[in-house]
Amino acid sequence: MTYTVLARRWRPTKFGDVVGQEHITVTLQNAITSGRVAHAYILTGPRGIGKTSTARILARAVNCLKGPAAEPCNECEICRQIIEERNLDVVEIDGASNNSVDDIRKLRETVRLSPISAKRKVYIIDEVHMLTVSAFNALLKTLEEPPEHVLFIFATTEIHKVPFTILSRVQRFDFHRIRPDIMAAHLRKICEHDKIKIPDEALDIISRRAEGSLRDAEGLLDQLIAYSGTDIPLEAVHEVLGILPREIIERTTEIIVHHDYAGALTHLSELSDAGIDYGELLRSLEHFWMEQLFARVGDASADKEEDSSAAEQLSPEDLLRLIKLASETDSEIRRSPNPRMRFEVAFLRWVSLDRSVKIADILAKLRGAGTSSTAPPPPKPSTPVVSTTAPPPESPQKAEPPEEAKSPPMKTATPEKPPSKEKSPSQKPGDIDMFNEKFGGEILEVKDTPKTSPKKG
Ligand SMILES: [Zn+2]
Repeated sequence: MTYTVLARRWRPTKFGDVVGQEHITVTLQNAITSGRVAHAYILTGPRGIGKTSTARILARAVNCLKGPAAEPCNECEICRQIIEERNLDVVEIDGASNNSVDDIRKLRETVRLSPISAKRKVYIIDEVHMLTVSAFNALLKTLEEPPEHVLFIFATTEIHKVPFTILSRVQRFDFHRIRPDIMAAHLRKICEHDKIKIPDEALDIISRRAEGSLRDAEGLLDQLIAYSGTDIPLEAVHEVLGILPREIIERTTEIIVHHDYAGALTHLSELSDAGIDYGELLRSLEHFWMEQLFARVGDASADKEEDSSAAEQLSPEDLLRLIKLASETDSEIRRSPNPRMRFEVAFLRWVSLDRSVKIADILAKLRGAGTSSTAPPPPKPSTPVVSTTAPPPESPQKAEPPEEAKSPPMKTATPEKPPSKEKSPSQKPGDIDMFNEKFGGEILEVKDTPKTSPKKG
């Protein structure tokens, strides 16, 4: 017996089965029941979220012998024919391989003919953005004056490549990425139906990894079933998907938050012993911090239960900074012959960010003393914090006494600094200082800076 992949077996056959796109399916159903089906629709959104399935359901719903109905019966002769792809009135075209003007001209010739058995001729053009300009122009003529019996359904992942002339003649539906909780619930349904044992946490991991694409999530579940059979332990998920246990991510964050040098060294050697994939670790960290960030700015879809106490101490600005640094380190280690060392250096820098700020102060002061061209900037109370550069030479909020005494241990960091000297201290708001106090170190900003224009004195 051949195995049918989950994505095909669980492909929705009714509007009600389309997961997470009620804003579209309900609208279409209302259009059908009220006899207001348009002549052309364009369905857009990322891959694997139900665009083509919805197009096929719509094709059946308008042609069903028991309809047009809010749901196709999927049993009458016409529905069966369409499902089995042998109804000549419902034509599915792959825009990627039939994108020439000749292809569209051929299509135009058949468009005029009345349907053979169905009520409406339906043309589903997948990946419609792949059509050439002249093909779009040819299509435009048909869209301007479509015969009564014709329904066009376009699907695309790249709506911005579809000309406005086309868009203005079709009804547009934007499919959403499917929320992880909705996706996990759907996967649970599949597992219950197929008698597959799998912990909830595993389904959460799959749902997050799929990034909104149900088809991808089902593919990952397939992969796990192939690996573990019908009893899937959490470890299998970590192993197969190359996902790090959450404890590692949380521990890493904790060390950064607490500037725990001793812990950092132990942690690094544990990571190395465990043969961790540093790229994966960085991506997982990014992901985790993103979640925290969303939770912080009040996104309802973020999983607040997963807040770890250490991560909670990070402000949104801290998190943004860390995400950026992790992403930069990720691309650095891809090019590096020694990813482990790259990661370790980066990690130790993050742990020391707090002190880096202090050395920045010193440098700024030195700059102030050495080159008189840069006058100390006036304090600016409220500006966005994200794109910070060097901290101010004399920050209004730093009440502490001079930090010079603490500078010696920072020697290692200094080689990175010279470029920042070019960037004369820009005006800094008070909240940047608050941020810098914890994180926004000078050292790491050297690379981030282009956003703030240096003020040449
Ligand atoms: Zn039917």
